[in-house]
Amino acid sequence: AKAHGRNNYQFFKRRINERAIKRFALEGSLRRAIAREEPAICFQPKMAIATREVVGAEALLRWHDRHSGPVSPSQFIPIAEESGLIIQMGEWVLRKACAQNRAWQDAGLRPIPVAVNVSAVQFRDHHFLDLVARVLHETGLPPQFLELEVTESVTMHDLERTVTLLEALKAMGVGLSIDDFGTGYSSLSYLKRFPIDTLKIDRSFVHDVTVDADSAAITRAIISMARSMNHKVIAEGVETEEQFAFLRAEGCDQVQGYYVSGPLPAADFRQAFLLPAAA
Ligand code: C2E
Ligand code: CA
Ligand code: CA
Ligand code: CA
Repeated sequence: AKAHGRNNYQFFKRRINERAIKRFALEGSLRRAIAREEPAICFQPKMAIATREVVGAEALLRWHDRHSGPVSPSQFIPIAEESGLIIQMGEWVLRKACAQNRAWQDAGLRPIPVAVNVSAVQFRDHHFLDLVARVLHETGLPPQFLELEVTESVTMHDLERTVTLLEALKAMGVGLSIDDFGTGYSSLSYLKRFPIDTLKIDRSFVHDVTVDADSAAITRAIISMARSMNHKVIAEGVETEEQFAFLRAEGCDQVQGYYVSGPLPAADFRQAFLLPAAA
């Protein structure tokens, strides 16, 4: 049993080393990729249910490593967070998204807000507020056309500071949404104090909304909670007509997901969804 235990230990040690090495390699490639500006952002439309009009977009990072091919953000974001690279990367995404949105407006297209994801590490960074102000100033994007998506778990970290920071961002004029809502056990009394515009229903609930009574009940509850707090509510990960019909019937405001479109490169997004602003 002892030998077995030791083998197990060796086995786990090796597994941990392999993982560390992989992680280290990935961090190295990520650093080089950022230096070469290899990561790109795609835009996924947000559609108003009532009018079926595209009323916004979410900027999502894409990274195609020259050796390993496409690397998913759920793989590299945690590594970027642990290594601190996320600060640089997050700043780059913010600037890129604002500059692109400004360029669309300058081209006379119908203006829409573009949402950027904010990681926990960025949100905790003391320069974050300054960064947002600086990027808006430098790109010339009016603040109401930037939206920040912060996950529920991030906001739970230091509640008093979160309220202060969200209030400052709100005062600046940017839109605020709570991402992955329903997964982070927010205290509802705090939620009431967050000056946010939108709740974003996590796609794990949306996925099962037509097949699982609990998911349906949670989705309904989030929609009615958003209503009663005067927040907009958007469902993410909407893939089917049935899910769309359920959300429409329950009074959800917007949907995002493959049902409308996956994330697209800027030029394709523009082509598909941004018409010239009405004269
Ligand atoms: P998220 O913020 O919840 O983003 C939505 C994710 O759902 C995206 O995955 C999107 O491609 C995917 N998705 C969209 N529609 C559908 C659908 O109909 N069905 C399904 N199954 N999935 C759908 P993606 O692009 O792989 O990003 C994963 C996560 O990585 C994001 O989750 C976000 O937390 C993070 N992320 C992505 N870009 C950034 C970024 O620029 N900064 C930060 N901090 N995090 C990012
Ligand atoms: Ca998001
Ligand atoms: Ca989400
Ligand atoms: Ca998510």
